Amino acid sequence: MLEVITVIDQINAILPQTQCRKCGFQGCRPYAEAIASGLADINQCPPGGDLGISELARLLNIDHKPLNPKFGEHKPKQIAFIIEDACIGCVKCIAACPVDAILGAAKFMHTVIASECTGCELCIAPCPVDCIVMQPVSMSADKYAAAQLAKKRYEARCLRKVKESEEKAERAKQKKAELGILKKGT
Ligand code: SF4
Ligand code: SF4
Ligand code: SF4
Repeated sequence: MLEVITVIDQINAILPQTQCRKCGFQGCRPYAEAIASGLADINQCPPGGDLGISELARLLNIDHKPLNPKFGEHKPKQIAFIIEDACIGCVKCIAACPVDAILGAAKFMHTVIASECTGCELCIAPCPVDCIVMQPVSMSADKYAAAQLAKKRYEARCLRKVKESEEKAERAKQKKAELGILKKGT
């Protein structure tokens, strides 16, 4: 049987499949459908950038135009990284990830499967403890910066833990003192 390749398929094949929704649609395929039906322009995909727009313009035989900044800016590829010491296992990032690139279970630390992460950033906002950071894929200088950030967060968490433990000890001391007063009074 002959496979029918539609213009939507051809447009979708050019789109980067980041599935980030920055174009204003629920994913790359819906955006491809909107372009094909004249409901969207070819310059709404930040991850695809100028190169993607050129390919779309060539395919559709229309003029190239710059990326519309209203939809975001083109950035080098990044992937998400979870700072495991800070993760509380709430699973909100798993629910947000459009490509199932996050592993984890409720109340356990989560981790991103680097090879499957598209860098869509959709897991960032739902994380209640801001423990997901984006890292450029192959730039050692920025990896170093991310590691420094992780270190800072880890140290901040350790300090918080020490403070919490001191506060707990203080509360226990106060409770004992109150009980002592009550016993004396009875
Ligand atoms: S902005 Fe581009 S990569 Fe993101 S969902 Fe839309 S078409 Fe896909
Ligand atoms: S892990 Fe985060 S950035 Fe990566 S694909 Fe999933 S939601 Fe997008
Ligand atoms: S949203 Fe943040 S805290 Fe919750 S499981 Fe994901 S990484 Fe951990």
